[in-house]
Amino acid sequence: MSSTYTKKQVADLVKGDLDFETVHLMLSMPKDEDRYKFYMETINENLDYDHQAIGALGPHLNYVIRSDNEEIVVMCDCGHDFGQYRNNWKLNALIYVRDNVEKMEQIYPAIMAPDTSWQVYREYYCPSCGIQHCVEAPTPWYPVMHDLQPDFATFYEWMGQPAPAKI
Ligand SMILES: [Zn+2]
Repeated sequence: MSSTYTKKQVADLVKGDLDFETVHLMLSMPKDEDRYKFYMETINENLDYDHQAIGALGPHLNYVIRSDNEEIVVMCDCGHDFGQYRNNWKLNALIYVRDNVEKMEQIYPAIMAPDTSWQVYREYYCPSCGIQHCVEAPTPWYPVMHDLQPDFATFYEWMGQPAPAKI
């Protein structure tokens, strides 16, 4: 059984204007055929650039098809291009590492912070607008995490839609 929602309901989901129970139902039930279309229409209507967003990677961060060369890249809402989508966008971000007591006490009360010999925080920021896109909390030696590597070929096949030219 799938659920059916209007574009306004999907737009309210994107804006964060729905109550918890409705969000839980929308996210946990099988998706209706128009969900992706409504979701991406909403995302694209709220972007100031003329590239086409085809997937959300996180708040203010999307997979987009560049209008000038059809490459799929990771792009901030401000238009900053983090590079080809198969590469880890975080390597092109500004990275702030909280790796000592002084830096941790900027966000935690004294003695409540993690021991930075065991865990650090890596904060990833857009170099153009400064928005924070991600925080990860690894052990200090752990490599930069590559959170998601989408298989757009399979996704578009599954959706029954033509895939972008440069997947
Ligand atoms: Zn930005």
